[in-house]
Formats: sequence, structure tokens, C-alpha cells
Amino acid sequence: MKKIIVLLLTLLPFHVTNAQSYNPFYANIVANTSQENILNDLTAFENFGIKTVGSNALTNTENWITARYQSLGYTDVVLQPFTYSAGTSNNIIVTKTGTLYPNTFLIIDAHYDTINGPGTNDNGTGTVLLLELARLLENVDTEYSIKFIHFSGEEDGLIGSNYYVNNTVIPQNLDIKLVFNIDEVGGVNGMTNNKVVCERDLTNPQSNNEASNAATNSLATLIELYSNLDTEISNAYASDYIPFENNGHIITGLYESNVSPVNHTIDDDLAHMDVAYAFEVIKGSLGAALEFAVAFEALSLEEEEHYNEMISISPNPSSNYITIKFIKPLQQVVDFKIINTLGKEVYKTTLSEQSQIIDLNNMASAHYFAVFKIGNKRFVKTIVID
Ligand SMILES: [Zn+2]
Repeated sequence: MKKIIVLLLTLLPFHVTNAQSYNPFYANIVANTSQENILNDLTAFENFGIKTVGSNALTNTENWITARYQSLGYTDVVLQPFTYSAGTSNNIIVTKTGTLYPNTFLIIDAHYDTINGPGTNDNGTGTVLLLELARLLENVDTEYSIKFIHFSGEEDGLIGSNYYVNNTVIPQNLDIKLVFNIDEVGGVNGMTNNKVVCERDLTNPQSNNEASNAATNSLATLIELYSNLDTEISNAYASDYIPFENNGHIITGLYESNVSPVNHTIDDDLAHMDVAYAFEVIKGSLGAALEFAVAFEALSLEEEEHYNEMISISPNPSSNYITIKFIKPLQQVVDFKIINTLGKEVYKTTLSEQSQIIDLNNMASAHYFAVFKIGNKRFVKTIVID
């Protein structure tokens, strides 16, 4: 029986080609995660009080979050107001622009409204996680754009995230790579908090479920690579990723494994959670965000010059083909892609020969970016097709 099972597994179309591996460049960034910052931010969040929609506490929290992004140097900080029976509130949407795919977004989101209590765990932890990721990603180049979104009205029925999907995502036909939702990752004081739940989409529509499953498996792998936590896979439900999932997007999420017995009560405070656990969740999430947004190392001017001499593209401008030549035989395969000025990939291959011809016959006349991926670095040349 066992042999048959093994044989079946090897025949399954297992998507292991993008298996995540430990990246020392990412680990160096993760190593800057600060438990002190996290504690300070959770304390500040707690001190604002009970953050129901319509309360001054929520407005004060909103102002604090907004000011934090501004002090970090983020300039694209947008408040999106929406109104319902409880009052008017704002989603806070912060965008970091990707260098290769500026119009394709990794959304990392958490709600910042609370119900019945200060909500230090639900969802101060998600709020603070976004702030810490934003701090550590601010000066890191990423291929994809990132939106950090702090939703409001979650506790009243996902009001803010529904509003965002209906009033931004759908009318703008926003190109979303992945929605990564964080809700309640503080654990339980006094318990052994060493595991986090990675949540995948198991509901209708079905079209996005396989991709959500793959992203969630990646998330679990990445959490284990960049934190000391174990992971378990479960299903996504009842948080701000749901309006995205209903609209067909690929979602994943994090939730604590030891579930707080005091959420949605006055006791949801620091004393009832585990800051050291939140710190580990944040480290793992940062590793995952670096991988999902495809962070890379900037080239020094010297390296830029070096690759300029090493790599030639001719003719440029070209009408039907280009020849890519390396000055020396390649020691390793180089990933190569061509991206249009809208940030859409139009050609992709791997280069292993010292000289290689690329057929451009079915590409429209325009400027493009030819991108060579060399380890953690990217060398980009403009090519013109006319
Ligand atoms: Zn929550």
C-alpha cells in the first residue's frame, strides 16, 4: 500500500518549481525587526482606548497611524472615507511603488477598529505588524508595489474592506498579486505560543482557490524560515480578505493558534497576550512580504558600470530581434525578462549561452525594460522596438 501511495505522489502535478528558500539578504532585513518598537506601538494603540467607529479613540488612532507613515517617509498616504449607521470612518491606504511592476500590488492589510475593548490583540497586533513592516521595507526595492491598508469598520461586518473592493478595486480593475491579511496574532499570556495559523481560501468562487492554497503553503514555509514559529494550515473566514476573495482575488492570512479568550472584551490588552510571540509573527511576515513583493538588492554605481560592460544588447533600437551578448561565458543561468512601461511582463526566458538571439517580432513598437536577474540584484537596460 505504501509503495502505491509514493508512486501516486510522484505522478501528481506538484508545483514545486517556486519552492521558497532561505535568502540571507531577506534575513538581514528581518534581523532589524524590533521587539521594543512592537511593544511601544502596542502600548500606544492600547492607550487610545475602545476604537469603535464614530469614537474619538478611533479618530486618534487613525491620526497616529497616518502620522507614523509620514514620519517614515511615505508620501502616498490616502484616507478613504465611508459612512454607515455607526458613523463615518476612514480606510488608510499607503502605497510603496514597485520598480518593475508598479501597477501590480501586494496588499498587506489589517483592521484598526476594535469592539468592546482596546483590542490590543484584535487587531492592534495586525496594525503594529503593518507599521513595523512599513518601517523595514521603506528603503528596500521591490519588484511589485505594496499597499499597506488599515481597514476600519471590520468589527461591524467588514464594512471598510467591502467599501474598498467596491469603490477602488472593482472600478479601477486593480491588478492584485496577493492579499495578505493579518488579524489577531498576539497569542495568549501564560500559554506556549509557538505556532501561527496560515489561512487559505476554501470557498466559492473556486477559480482562485488553488492559487490561494499555493500562496498559503509559501507563507507557511516563509514564516518557518524567518521566525522560530511552527505553522498550521487552516481556512480563511470572517476577516477583511473575504471581500477580495468574493471578487476572485488570491488571498492568504494569519491568525493566532492559541486563540484569545478575551477578544471583543475590555480585557483584550497587553497583559492578556504575548508580545514575544507577536514579534516572531512579525519577523515571519516580513520574510514573507519580502518574498511576495520580490525584494532585491540595489546595484552600486560600480556594479551598474560593470554590468553595462559585461552585457550588450544589439541592435537597439531594433525592429525584429535582438542579440544579447555577455563578455564572458556564463557561470550560471540568468533569468531574463522584458517588461513594458505599464509594468507588464511581455517576455521571459533563461539565458545560458554567451550569445543568444531573442525574437521580438510580435511586440508592439515602444520602449521596454530588459531585466537581468543576477542573484538578488537586477540589471535593467532600456530597449526600443520600432
Ligand atoms: Zn479582528
